[in-house]
Amino acid sequence: MAQRMSIEPHQVIEVHSPATLKKIGEVAANSPLEVRAAVQKAREAFRVWSALDLKQRAEVLLSARDLFLAHREELIELICNENGKPRLEALVEITYVCDVITFYAKQGQRFLKPQRVTPHLLRNKKVTTIYNPRGVIGMITPWNFPLILTIGEAIPALMAGNAVVIKPSEWTPLIAERGAELLQQAFQAAGLPPQILQVVNGYGETGGALVDEADMIAFTGSVRTGKAVAVRAAQRLIPISLELGGKDPMIVLRDADIERAANAAVWGAFTNSGQVCISVERVYVEEPIAEEFTRRVVEKTKSLRQGSDVSEINTNSRVDVGAMTFPKQIETVEAHVADARAHGAQILTGGQRNPDLPGRFYEPTVLAGVDHSMKVMTDETFGPVLPIMRVKNAEEALRLANDTIYGLNASVWTRDKAKGEAIAARVEAGMTCVNDVLVGFGISDAPSGGLKESGIGKRHGAEGIRRFCHQQVIVTDRFGMKREPLWYPYDATTERFLTRAVGALFSSKLSAKLKSLFGK
Ligand code: NAD
Repeated sequence: MAQRMSIEPHQVIEVHSPATLKKIGEVAANSPLEVRAAVQKAREAFRVWSALDLKQRAEVLLSARDLFLAHREELIELICNENGKPRLEALVEITYVCDVITFYAKQGQRFLKPQRVTPHLLRNKKVTTIYNPRGVIGMITPWNFPLILTIGEAIPALMAGNAVVIKPSEWTPLIAERGAELLQQAFQAAGLPPQILQVVNGYGETGGALVDEADMIAFTGSVRTGKAVAVRAAQRLIPISLELGGKDPMIVLRDADIERAANAAVWGAFTNSGQVCISVERVYVEEPIAEEFTRRVVEKTKSLRQGSDVSEINTNSRVDVGAMTFPKQIETVEAHVADARAHGAQILTGGQRNPDLPGRFYEPTVLAGVDHSMKVMTDETFGPVLPIMRVKNAEEALRLANDTIYGLNASVWTRDKAKGEAIAARVEAGMTCVNDVLVGFGISDAPSGGLKESGIGKRHGAEGIRRFCHQQVIVTDRFGMKREPLWYPYDATTERFLTRAVGALFSSKLSAKLKSLFGK
């Protein structure tokens, strides 16, 4: 098992498969005292881990990548079982972890290289910035991508030299523990302490205790909890990154490739049963193509196969759409659909729990006749629901797309890519795709994060690793004069010198004259 401290009797968290509703395991909830003990152990491990150079840390993480590959089948089965997603989507989680290790093992060395700064004024000083690890990073994570958002999130923090303590969702703790075990195996094989990465389990109390102990919190989850975490972290003035919810719009313009856009809408809305922070949550389609686009979306939705790929229950072929992990989420979905219906929306397909399956399955649902008076167009649904709204033109689509408290992701669909990019730049979102959906998250090079209430900070790219560091500036004197002009004693000569220097340096008249003489 992953390293967990045992001080007192624990509350047991039972884990049930959302597809079968059967119990598949259990973990013990950790008390605040145990969280403190875990962070202390992490601090000791941090001293050893941070003393390695980036290349050495990269080697250890790359050896862990081999373990993730070797255990691929077992991990896929566990993800499908615990989270309810189809096999292919579980494979994506493992692919992500391997890719993020590969990316930061190489690029991390570049992103964290000391940087020389040439001062524009005090040229007699050498200035270098370096990136130091922060210490112990606490990660509090949700259930929808239980490997990506735990182990995947930990990789750049580890590469930067931090120790990590993860508090996974109480709904999906098993995969986080198994992933942590594989990383710990790699640490131990390299003669390093396994406590470089630990998992603590529990509910909000355990997460809160981690905020009280860690040196930084990387939180992924709902806006509500994100705000509570931010308030708590503010008491200690520790840095945080917040990756929160979204209500991502898809804008389909009249010159779009309707077939590609319809395929994207269906996949973008229903992959992982719509439990994706960057899933397509609402569509704005221009009138002239609305009917054809909607027809194709409904036809494709009806052909989706819903069920489970867990070997125990999958007696037939593969499935496209899995179960819903979190019981409350399926209730939110039901409430949004009921609210839309009550306000006059039409259900074109779906609109109910799947009556033929035992677990928590909600049928992929397409709605028409929707508007912003309905929750399904304004609040995060986080389920397999695709509301389609007709708009007169791109300007109306943009206005509605931006009429939200969220700003995570978006997409624009048009054959005119330049126009698409221009409209994309006007969507208030951390990332906007043109003629694509969701894919930006899979590009480790591209910073990903939210505006407005969708969060603070970025994962991926240079920012994705630098957020786990504090940037220290080293200023070194170059010439070793016995006394700098500004040092004591303050005298009239120094003041005359400085007065002239200030005049010469900052006078607009002088700089205009120099420009006319030298053209610079
Ligand atoms: P949640 O906010 O309910 O829980 C997230 C984590 O916070 C869990 O581990 C939970 O135990 C913990 N927690 C709960 N109360 C806490 C408290 N008071 N202090 C500290 N920790 C506490 O979210 P969820 O239902 O697990 O996840 C769904 C949400 O996550 C959606 O809104 C989704 O959009 C968002 N999400 C965002 C991203 C992103 O990258 N922006 C990615 C995935 C999911």
